[in-house]
Amino acid sequence: MDLLEYQGKQLFGRAGVSVPDGEPARDVETAVAAADRIGYPCVVKAQVQIGGRGKAGGIKVAKDAEEARAHAEAIIGMNIRGPRGEGPFTVHEVWIEEASEIDAEYYASIILDRSAKKPLVILSRMGGMNVEEIADTDPDALVRRHVDPTKGLTTDEARTIGIDAGIDDDVVDGVAEILVKLYEAFAANDATLIEVNPLIVTAGREVVALDAKVTIDGNALFRHQDLAEIADTVEDPQEAMAKEKGLTYVKLDGNVGILANGAGLCMSTLDVVAQAGGAPANFLDAGGGSKAEAIVNALEVIKSDDKVTAILFNIFGGITRCDEIAKGIVTASSQLDLDLPLVVRLDGTNSEEGLRILAEADLPNLHQEKTMLDAARRVVELAGGAS
Ligand code: GDP
Ligand code: MN
Repeated sequence: MDLLEYQGKQLFGRAGVSVPDGEPARDVETAVAAADRIGYPCVVKAQVQIGGRGKAGGIKVAKDAEEARAHAEAIIGMNIRGPRGEGPFTVHEVWIEEASEIDAEYYASIILDRSAKKPLVILSRMGGMNVEEIADTDPDALVRRHVDPTKGLTTDEARTIGIDAGIDDDVVDGVAEILVKLYEAFAANDATLIEVNPLIVTAGREVVALDAKVTIDGNALFRHQDLAEIADTVEDPQEAMAKEKGLTYVKLDGNVGILANGAGLCMSTLDVVAQAGGAPANFLDAGGGSKAEAIVNALEVIKSDDKVTAILFNIFGGITRCDEIAKGIVTASSQLDLDLPLVVRLDGTNSEEGLRILAEADLPNLHQEKTMLDAARRVVELAGGAS
């Protein structure tokens, strides 16, 4: 789970890492009131789970209330794409923060290096640009050091990292202290990534985290009540809807909606669609013994994802009866006013009856295929180019 910048900063604040004062706001009036309280100049920052907001116009300095209003109006509701074209992410919230006078911009991160089975600390004196750029332009400016997770990061080790990275002498201690606290926060919160870019030195030579990117291991949320509550609010709308309906659903990036019964068949269906050159939009296990109502619910969730341009049903009847599924498809098509192409492959228990029901319903956008591979090829063709 990715935290928004300000949620990350609140976590930093609790860990004793200096962050600028700020307040979140979801509408323009709240944003202006927050700016008035914080004072000017202040910074209006788009809160989306993607970097590169500065370049995209999602971060603006306001010198008075009028500018704060204009920036909040421009930023709330804007769509931001990531540096690699990810998204777009709509800005629903801004973070109003006191402006900082920047003397130097550093880069600091801690990631879980799975291959080494250890956390990896990265520090550079070249902040502001992204880590790939730093690696390209000046690889020597990046210091990378593994941490023994059984021992943690000591102040001495952190200081050595700071010195090796060429951090200004007068702030090496300050940077080291922050690295240690970030490491403690990383471990205590089951994070897989903490990135501070830029970690700044202010005009007063204080070290402050000016940005925060934090990813928490979703499987560890059960032991972090505070973070689990955030997860509920940042959850993807389709995933939230599926959870409400009691479905096992995971959203993916593609445009081919998928419904299969049983986790195993569902996984294989994703693979076969990918093999046919398509991009699955989701994993959705209709479960064993799926009834018509469950099919309606499932289709409703799949359909609510705007990216989906075609849907594949891959059902192998066992406990699940294909005639039930077919009835569900027919009901759902009329109830949901389904205008997307539907490719159906039914096999197993009562499949003949199921196929007969579908044939009789004579749905104009329904296509039947006999094998999984044919069904995958067909749905990919009907879905058009990958989104
Ligand atoms: P990102 O573009 O999504 O990574 O967002 P950041 O929070 O890293 O902000 C991008 C850039 O905006 C930073 O690298 C800074 O140069 C600049 N910036 C952000 N906050 C302030 C501020 O308080 N004062 C000044 N002068 N610049 C800021
Ligand atoms: Mn940044």
